[in-house]
Amino acid sequence: MSAAPRTAAENRPEIALSRLRSSIQACTRCEALVRCRSRVVPGDGSVPANVVFVGIAPGRLGGDRTGIPFSGDRSGQLLRRMIECASLERVFITNLVRCNPRDAAGRNRDPSAAEIAHCRDHLRAEFAIARPRIVACLGRLAWKELAGRAAPFLPRRGKPAEIDGMLFFPMYHPAFVNRGAYPLRLYRKDFARLARL
Ligand code: URA
Repeated sequence: MSAAPRTAAENRPEIALSRLRSSIQACTRCEALVRCRSRVVPGDGSVPANVVFVGIAPGRLGGDRTGIPFSGDRSGQLLRRMIECASLERVFITNLVRCNPRDAAGRNRDPSAAEIAHCRDHLRAEFAIARPRIVACLGRLAWKELAGRAAPFLPRRGKPAEIDGMLFFPMYHPAFVNRGAYPLRLYRKDFARLARL
């Protein structure tokens, strides 16, 4: 039996996003993540969006508690402060994977290649609704996944990669800046450059 055609209202991006969120929240593709997550954390923000930020995975102290990507932890505070300072509008924030991956000791770990692959459809569906011109890839893992293995991760000098009409822009992950591995002064400039695009 084929599904009934969608009405114009159902095709509105906010409605499409709310349907997508419900389907993502029911996801059980990754056995290990289903066991350790407190909740599923779909992308959040404006649709359509001017820019989509893609991080790695919700943090144990952040999205896994709040249900909102990059909120409630230090990475989230820094990212949101930078977005505000650069006066970026119509922003959507998401991750490569939508559940918090933990190691045996309960600490945050990077998602596995299989976990990233399982979540790829969810990310593509979010892009299809947000239809951003620019995708900011937060950290090497997001850059490698989205821009392809061949593109070197060079946030200071790197050119955005144009794929399917979207510009993928490499940026350091806010956790890297919080650790003092990259100066906040330069991070601010990177966001100003993003705003100019
Ligand atoms: N919070 C997120 O939502 N993603 C990250 O990559 C880190 C913290």
